Amino acid sequence: MSPTWFLKPGFRARPVRETRPAAPLHTQGGLASDHFRGATCTTCEHPLLLIWTLDREDPRFERIVARSHRRQATDFARWKRHRFLPLLYCWRCATDMTYRLVSQNRIEVLDQRSGEPSEDFPYANYPDGFEEHALELEPIPEDMRASYDLACNQEGWLDDEQTTRLAEWLDCDPQRIASGFPPPVLQVGGIPQLAQGKETLQCKNPKCEHHTEDDMDWSKPFLRVFAVVHDHEELPMVHDDGTTMTVQVVFWTCIDCHSIRAVNRCD
Ligand SMILES: [Zn+2]
Ligand SMILES: [Zn+2]
Repeated sequence: MSPTWFLKPGFRARPVRETRPAAPLHTQGGLASDHFRGATCTTCEHPLLLIWTLDREDPRFERIVARSHRRQATDFARWKRHRFLPLLYCWRCATDMTYRLVSQNRIEVLDQRSGEPSEDFPYANYPDGFEEHALELEPIPEDMRASYDLACNQEGWLDDEQTTRLAEWLDCDPQRIASGFPPPVLQVGGIPQLAQGKETLQCKNPKCEHHTEDDMDWSKPFLRVFAVVHDHEELPMVHDDGTTMTVQVVFWTCIDCHSIRAVNRCD
C-alpha cells in the first residue's frame, strides 16, 4: 500500500488559553463565517464547524507527501499558496464531506454525503462554533510515536521504563498505558492512530483527475491522512462535556488537487 502520511513531521496539537504566539498562527475554534465564505453545510444549511485553522507558513512543516512522489516540490509550493487552511466539519449531519480552499477567504464544498440531519444530535443548543484558542503544534518525537503506536495496538509490549516515559509525555497515569487505553493524541501530519485502522479513501472532487466513486480503486492514488481530531473538553463536538474520546474526525487530502475530505470514525 502507498504511504498514508501527507505532512512530515507529525505534530501533537494542543489548544492554549494563556498565550497567543505571534507566529505561526494556528487556531482552534472560532466561527467559520467570520473567516470563510461558503462554509455552510449543503445538507442542513447550518454553518460548518471550524475545528482548526492551520497556518501553512509554519517553517516546521518540512515535507509534504513521500519523497518518491514526482511532483513533491511543486506540491509543497501549491500547498502553501493560501496561508490559512480551515479544517471544517458538520456534526449535525455526521457527514462525509469534501471541500477545497478557493481563495484566502472562501471555501467550496465539492461533495457531501450525509443522512438526514437529526433534531437532537449531537446535543441541545449545539453551537455554530467553539471558543477560539491558539493551537500549539509540538513535533512528536519518533520514539514517542513508536511507543504510542505500540501502546495503542500491542498491550503489554512496552517495558516499565518506556511506559513511564510515554506516560510523562502524555501527562497521564501509567496504568492507562499498561491497560492498553492511552489517552488520544490530537494530531496534525505524521502517522496518527486511526480509530478504525488503515483504510483507503479516494478523491471526491469531480474536477480532479484522481476523482473516483470507488474508494477501493487501486488505479488512483489514495488520499493521505492530514489531521485527526477527537472530542475533548475544549472541543465538545459530540458530547457537551467533550468526553467521547473514541470519536474522531479524520481529515484526508488529495495529493493532486489538495481538496480536504472529512469523515468521522469511532471504534
Ligand atoms: Zn449539516
Ligand atoms: Zn483530487
